[in-house]
Amino acid sequence: MLELSDVRKTFRRGPVEVKVLRGVDLRVEAGDLISIMGPSGSGKSTLMNILGLLGRQTSGIYRLNGRDVSTMDDRELSAFRNRHIGFVFQSFNLLGHLTALENAALPLVYRGLGRRDVRRRAQGILEKVGMGDRLDHRPDQLSGGQKQRVAIARALVGEPGVVLADEPTGALDSDTADEVMRLLVRLNRDEGVAVVIITHAPSVSRQCCRQTLIRDGALLEDGDTA
Ligand code: ADP
Ligand code: MG
Repeated sequence: MLELSDVRKTFRRGPVEVKVLRGVDLRVEAGDLISIMGPSGSGKSTLMNILGLLGRQTSGIYRLNGRDVSTMDDRELSAFRNRHIGFVFQSFNLLGHLTALENAALPLVYRGLGRRDVRRRAQGILEKVGMGDRLDHRPDQLSGGQKQRVAIARALVGEPGVVLADEPTGALDSDTADEVMRLLVRLNRDEGVAVVIITHAPSVSRQCCRQTLIRDGALLEDGDTA
């Protein structure tokens, strides 16, 4: 489904080149549950941005459902992103003036779906994440764990093939973090959506079927021979 081959990313700051990714290979198949661990600054978010079509690699090939993404223009990229990829961020990234229902519905609104359909589907997914009784609450009326549930609903509402979660439990206390992780694991199992989770927590990583580590700009998978 997602396939990176020898992906490299170099940032240039004035005269200085920083080689963040130095040849990453990764295949994400339908229904996978994968963790990515690595120290701060090791390139996890850079990798996630490339996977999510939010940033481009310096070299190497990224194929999404068989398509080489370097052949797509910006309009195609955003359409592809909207249809196939859901995002969850550490800081939730909800819109403060919208209700839980309106936030969760955003990907469908961008698709141009009719209002009644949008509402029905957004409500359905909020019920699945345990937020069915908070539809009309705004983010500032929700706890951190509740905000992340709404963000997860938004990531899933369009039935993407893959959800990319960049430290989704990083801003939560440990009990709430466990609940959010259990939710992601359950949605992976029940909805069949592939989930890629960046995390610092070994306890989170252990719940994933595939565990990977970023080191020296490359991605090592548990079970790979070094
Ligand atoms: P992580 O998510 O693992 O903490 P990041 O992917 O955010 O790491 O960053 C990896 C490295 O790339 C860091 O040294 C960071 O400073 C650098 N970096 C990230 N984004 C940019 C950018 N847009 N311009 C220049 N350097 C960047
Ligand atoms: Mg990061």
